[in-house]
Amino acid sequence: MEASLACKRALVTGAGKGIGRATAKALLECGAEVIAVTRTQSDLDSLIQECPKMLTACVDICNWEATEDALKDIGPVDLLVNNAAVASLQPFLEVTQEAFDKLFDTNVKALLHVSQIIAKGMKCRGEGGAIVNISSQASQCALQDHAVYCASKGAVDMLTKVMALELGPHKIRVNSVNPTVVMTAMGRIGWSDPAKSERMLSRIPLGKFAEVEDVVNAIIFLLSDKSAMINGVTLPVDGGFLAS
Ligand code: NAP
Repeated sequence: MEASLACKRALVTGAGKGIGRATAKALLECGAEVIAVTRTQSDLDSLIQECPKMLTACVDICNWEATEDALKDIGPVDLLVNNAAVASLQPFLEVTQEAFDKLFDTNVKALLHVSQIIAKGMKCRGEGGAIVNISSQASQCALQDHAVYCASKGAVDMLTKVMALELGPHKIRVNSVNPTVVMTAMGRIGWSDPAKSERMLSRIPLGKFAEVEDVVNAIIFLLSDKSAMINGVTLPVDGGFLAS
């Protein structure tokens, strides 16, 4: 898809690995200036080696104070991708407070906080913007041992809708992308076991997992003017899993 994002400035959280890293690189290829945010400096070092134009900020976005500090001088941002997240699997009856707090701190609270910081800047400048939250098929379908992850992504879907409602009048569009399994580091946590992955594959009408590129293409579409009238949607990139 041809989407020119020239003159736009984009920020991607969790840009060190997987979908976030590929998104940051794709945005650069579309002509945007990109700020890659993650918490592991070596990932940012290798990203700069691959893409010398990449701007970076190393921060754990669960730390609100450190995040405000890291983002205060980054300049205007037109496009935000809230991608950083963590996953851990536990049967419902064994879910711990620690696991709950870790997933909600990262997947929900940090997403809300980064969005507040960036959307306040967008509102002040009055030129609008676009935000894409990376959710999951797990937001809308129960998956074994995924109680906290499913709940955190359900919260992301609902945050997406309220953000769309409240930020829309400021010309800021907010949507989510909800992928099925993608075999990144995170994907491998849940789906390396062939018994599990085959069961999941059999529930996806297209019979395959998503590639990183499938997710990146949907993100770029929702950030670009090609989706100028799309606001508040949760877009499955799941080969039909949620439809079946
Ligand atoms: P990934 O390979 O594990 O990469 C996640 C990135 O986020 C890493 O660079 C990680 O940094 C960073 N990150 C995590 N917590 C952070 C924090 N507190 N502060 C800053 N950076 C942080 O994951 P992925 O598979 O690309 O997933 C990307 C998004 O897609 C997530 O929102 C995920 O929930 C969603 N998703 C994934 C799948 C899948 O099957 N892979 C399916 C549906 C949805 P470190 O490595 O340094 O921790």
